[in-house]
Order: sequence, then structure tokens, then C-alpha cells
Amino acid sequence: MANPIIYFDNNATTKCAPEVIDAMLPFFAEQYANPASPHILGRQASRAVALARECIAESLACDASCVYFTSGATEANNLLILGLTNSVSSRRKIVASAIEHKSVLGPCEALTESGFEFATIPVRNNGIIDLDVARQIIDERTLLVSVQGANNEIGTIQPVRLVADIAHEKGAAVHCDAAQLLGKVPFSIDEMGADYFTFSAHKAYGPKGVGVLVVRRNIGSMSLAPVIFGGGQENGLRPGTLNVPAVVGMGAASRLWTAQMGEEAARILSLRILLEDSLVSIGYGVRVLASDSPRLPGTASVVFPGVPADVLISRTATVCMSVGSACTSGAVAPSHALLALGLSRDEAYSTVRLSLGRYNTADEVRMGAEAISETVRDVIGDSKVSV
Ligand code: PMP
Repeated sequence: MANPIIYFDNNATTKCAPEVIDAMLPFFAEQYANPASPHILGRQASRAVALARECIAESLACDASCVYFTSGATEANNLLILGLTNSVSSRRKIVASAIEHKSVLGPCEALTESGFEFATIPVRNNGIIDLDVARQIIDERTLLVSVQGANNEIGTIQPVRLVADIAHEKGAAVHCDAAQLLGKVPFSIDEMGADYFTFSAHKAYGPKGVGVLVVRRNIGSMSLAPVIFGGGQENGLRPGTLNVPAVVGMGAASRLWTAQMGEEAARILSLRILLEDSLVSIGYGVRVLASDSPRLPGTASVVFPGVPADVLISRTATVCMSVGSACTSGAVAPSHALLALGLSRDEAYSTVRLSLGRYNTADEVRMGAEAISETVRDVIGDSKVSV
């Protein structure tokens, strides 16, 4: 019998929870109407959207009127950054951490073409942003500071509150891309103190293609302008017919994460410790990045010196994991986040991200670690023979 496939790539995306799929199904075939339509089926769809919005708001402890549906965190990040810079002309500087997702760094870099200054806050080698530098960079010209809740590659949880306090003192608005926090660890958007938050459903057992922008509050006279125009949905901020099944799915996922998160986070953390201990015990200098920093319970970013990540992944065919590199224009580039942590290019090329989630078991962790260890020993053995 073929080996079962072991999925250790939950930061890339999660399996959609069966409860979420059940909740979505009627909205494809029976309650398929446009939620903006005034007839009975339209009103049913509209009620389902309203209920999902309320569930998500309740899980985030915010008002439902703060929640704007988008197609995911990429769109929500772009909407926030471009929407704010479109509408406020008095401040022309944006600041983001060096290890933000490309959907934050991309729009910030693009804005330099229209005269914005863009500065990045570096991270220390423990994967946490450098607050001393943040204090120097964030000034009265700063319109927006963007800092993620947790890093998608290394899993480090950032001191969003401290950055928000620094930024607010200078009158800047604060955005937190919390796509990787959602459903993984308990958090409070009030305590984190950012003004805008962005989330994605598929990182937390919901469907792909839906996320939210939460406008917790606008600073002073700052407000968001739409970046696309159309039928006026979502208060005109994000027009377009809502993806009702996906919205309902995100609502169902939010009920699950509210109910299960605390217990689930503790269980996943124990699996991660088991996995990390097994991998480090292989020897050969294998190490876990940011091992002493506050991290997501399920994320391990592991350096296997002398073993290229793509080789490790292709030769460990039964285990799904992710390389810390991005394929840009056909060339594999080392991950900007790993380089920002101070890794050499060789170390970055030898780094693999393993991310555990709700459906992983201790048996899978043991089998997965064993399969990875075998590959590492083989690759190191091969390279010794070829020397
Ligand atoms: N931000 C972070 C931190 C992410 O990890 C991701 C997904 N890799 C995104 C944004 C983009 O999310 P989506 O896939 O919903 O566009």
C-alpha cells in the first residue's frame, strides 16, 4: 500500500473543515441568489451574509459594521494600503516591517512610483522587529505603519501593540496583517491596538477566495477610498457581488475557531515540540529558527545545513512542506524574510517550513520526522561520497 500523504503545510492553506463545507453547500445549489436582490431568495442570501458577518465580528470582538468582505488577505492588504494612500494627501511616508507578506510590500513599493517614501523596519535575528529602529523611522510624515500579527514563514508573533503605540504617538495609522494569527492563537484586536486588520479564511479551515478587512477605527480625518468601482456593495468600499458560499464558509469557520482555538493551540504546540525535537536530534547542525521567540504553535522553520530545501522536499515525497524561497520570474530567489533574519543565501536555500494544524496527529509527526530524517541522512551521505 502506498504511504499516506502527510500534510505539514498549513500556513500555505488549510483543509476546509467538513462543517464549513456543509454550511456552504446550500448556497451553491439552493440559496444561490444575489444577496443584493430584493426577492425572497435574495433576502435569504443577504441574511446568510449578515449572519456570517456577525459571527466573524463576534469572534474578533468588533462590531459587524467594521467587517468588509474581500477575496482574501492579498486583496484586503492592497485595499487598505492603496485605499488609505488614495484618500489622505497630507502624509507621504509608509512604513512596514521587512518580513511582511508580498501583498503588503508590493503595494508599498508600487506607491514609491507616485512619490511616497517607503521605509522598512528590520527584524532582529530572533525574528522579531527591531523597535528601536521603528522609533527612529516612524515620524510625523508617516501615514501608515504596517506590521503583521505573525510571520507566515518563521511563525514569530510580532509586538503589534508596541508598534501601534509608537505610530499613534506620531499620528500615523496602523495596519496589522493578521492572516496567520487567525484561528491559530487567541488575540484581541483592541489590545493589539492597530486601526485596520486583514484576515483570510483559508488559513483557518475556511474556503479560499474570501477574507476580510476590519476597519476598527479611522484616525482623525483619515478614511479609506475604494480602489475599484462598481455596484456599491460593502458600503462602496469593495464593490462586486459577494461570494456568498465563501462568506458563509468563513462565518462557519469562525464559529469553529472561537469554540476550539485554546485547546487546539495547546495540542498543536505539543506536536510542534515533538517534531522539532525529532528533527534537531538528527544532528548535522539542524536547527529551528527563532526557537526562543514567541511563535505560532504550529510553525517550525528548520535549517538543514547542506541539504537544499527543494531536494529535501522532492525526495521526501510523502510529506507536504514548503521551501523558504519564492519563485519570482522563473528564478528561485531566497525568501526575503529569511534573509532579513540574517541568514546567508545558502542557509535560506536549506530552510524548510513545516506548519502543523487541526488535522495533524502525533503518528503523522513521528512518521513525517522519520521520513525527513532519512532524506537528510541520504543527501548528506551522497554529498560525502561525491566529495
Ligand atoms: N498575508 C500573510 C501573512 C499570508 O500568509 C498570506 C497567505 N500566504 C497572505 C497575506 C495572502 O492571503 P490570501 O491567500 O488570502 O490572499
